[in-house]
Amino acid sequence: MITIEHDGQVHNPLGGAAYIFEEVILNWISKQTHKSKINISIGAQPNSSLHFGTLTVFSLAFALGAKLREELSKDTEVFFEVIDTAPFKTKEIEGIKYQISLRASGVADLYLVQYEELLAKLSSLTRIRYQLRRQEEFNNQTCISDLLHKIALNKNILAPILDPEKEKLRIRVACQKCGLTDKQSVKTIIEDNSIQSYCPEHGWFNTKYTESSKFEYNTPLRNLIRALIYAEDNKNTDNGFEWLRITGSDYAGFYQEQLLYKPASLLGYNAANLPIILYSPLITDWSGAKLSKSLYVKSGAYQYLPSYIVNYEHFKERFGESGVEKLYKEVLSWVENPYKLFRNYSVYYFMDLFDNAK
Ligand SMILES: [Zn+2]
Repeated sequence: MITIEHDGQVHNPLGGAAYIFEEVILNWISKQTHKSKINISIGAQPNSSLHFGTLTVFSLAFALGAKLREELSKDTEVFFEVIDTAPFKTKEIEGIKYQISLRASGVADLYLVQYEELLAKLSSLTRIRYQLRRQEEFNNQTCISDLLHKIALNKNILAPILDPEKEKLRIRVACQKCGLTDKQSVKTIIEDNSIQSYCPEHGWFNTKYTESSKFEYNTPLRNLIRALIYAEDNKNTDNGFEWLRITGSDYAGFYQEQLLYKPASLLGYNAANLPIILYSPLITDWSGAKLSKSLYVKSGAYQYLPSYIVNYEHFKERFGESGVEKLYKEVLSWVENPYKLFRNYSVYYFMDLFDNAK
């Protein structure tokens, strides 16, 4: 095994967005938004303890909220969209993959405690309010039914873009009796006003788009639906707020261009109304790949790293509350010096920051 050697010098070379937004990002965001209140949206699947990637995304949301309030007098609030419909486990029955979600398995509740603790801590540091919203609540908004109807009418355009492999529009509803869900929408039949779903134990069932709280989607479709609902909120002059999203930069570039902006345009939406997405730097392993929660959970990856990097419980045990404060200050410095935002950070950068200071 090679030892990773370095000289301890941190360079922040300019290029791309770092060059354009080297010193100023807040004013630009302010000019691109038009209402007095900004809801800063973050999302995560509560399938395990938080790792450094999630910690930095959450910290960035509060840091941006705090700076927008301090420097530009914007009212800001953090919204955590809880993706509790993500799979907890999958099983194959008659050649079809069915999933049981984090919500149905109860796993979401198990880990949400840690997420809520972090949110409360960041909120007390910044005095920025926050809310959690489960998928059921998000989908329960009245405008979702119309959007699902519109998406169903355009399924032949959207499916090949959003599911290049199977070309299925991945809308699904869990069996209300046992929670089994046709993960890849293989048997699911999308009709103009409802979908027909199949449970291997309980048979066929029909769900109308007006029962929108029951619906679930795969990640690209959820990403599209969320952006379009946010866009409608942004356009609405009566509600007093608009949305800005923060997500990991593994979703930047090709992903959003092909899987969000293109389908949004095909559905007739104006890209100027879509929410700004600010990308949080990736936290990368020794090879430059992003840290993965699911790899850590499923295959015991990252044994070579101190466990606090991938497990928030261990992070708290080791560094206590001041650990969160220290991480927050680091992320705040990215907002204050935006050339630090448009790059990635390796786990060794943070190990240097935390281990050497202790
Ligand atoms: Zn069933």
